[in-house]
Amino acid sequence: MRPTSLVDLSGLCLHTITTKPWNIEQAAKHYASAGVKGITIWRDALEGRNVSHTGQMLRDHNLTIVSLCRGGFFVSKDRIKRQKAIDDNRKAIDEASLLGTDKIVLVCGADPVQSLEESRKQIQDGIAAIIPYAEAANVKLAIEPLHPMYADVRSAINTLKQANDLAEALNPPLESQSVPLENLSPPVAPMSLPVVSLASPTVGIAVDVYHLWWDPDLESEIARCGRQGNLLAFHISDWKTPTGDLLLDRGIMGEGCIPLRKIRSWVETAGFKGFNEVEIFSKAYWQEDQSEYLRKIIEAYTTYA
Ligand code: ZN
Repeated sequence: MRPTSLVDLSGLCLHTITTKPWNIEQAAKHYASAGVKGITIWRDALEGRNVSHTGQMLRDHNLTIVSLCRGGFFVSKDRIKRQKAIDDNRKAIDEASLLGTDKIVLVCGADPVQSLEESRKQIQDGIAAIIPYAEAANVKLAIEPLHPMYADVRSAINTLKQANDLAEALNPPLESQSVPLENLSPPVAPMSLPVVSLASPTVGIAVDVYHLWWDPDLESEIARCGRQGNLLAFHISDWKTPTGDLLLDRGIMGEGCIPLRKIRSWVETAGFKGFNEVEIFSKAYWQEDQSEYLRKIIEAYTTYA
């Protein structure tokens, strides 16, 4: 598929953290009047609010609530902390249900006092522990692989390959999902199954270009993610040079070196039909007039994304 420009805003979603100075009511009002169609809610934006009323407020603005950010942080050398994380993830699933979204993004966690292998094992155990609760609530869990610069404390899942391996290990094997392989005509090997024929698994993946753009295996791993029906979310921003802050200096699309349109074409070729979610943490942009910043984001979305 050739990369093409986005002609309208029908696929545009913003994360509330992108315009952090606005509270959720201000964000809803400004997003809706600017033509943004989707919103991903960061949990801090819900503080002190009735979650289900807030969900209704967002729907009253004709915004689709794309996902809740974020669960995860399953990793700790301390067993009690790991249990607390599982409890907090159950709470996040409750919040997602009350809000009226069917997806939670997982930043999986890491602990520098132990090996990455041990951290990955704890992540797998942590996600496995909340799957039944998520299934009962009809909430999907999107593992977000993070750039390796965050492998010390934020996530031991650092490539899309690792995320694919994990999602495939946690989801039921294809044979037990709703479309038996023998019913597909003509019979095909699992690796060539069309995305749409698979039942939706509970565990999937959020692909964020900021974390994954550098990966030489990105195209093939995105294709694999789509084949397995695991591609749940697509996050966009840009990588500025030089980067002033490894966490809080993300760029608007077109400001940096990420081949955004190419990656979006891979994601769409893999069968993804969801929102393009703008997720920018930026101390610099948070100091600007947020209406002007939103205008820049929208212009960049159709020009560069
Ligand atoms: Zn993200």
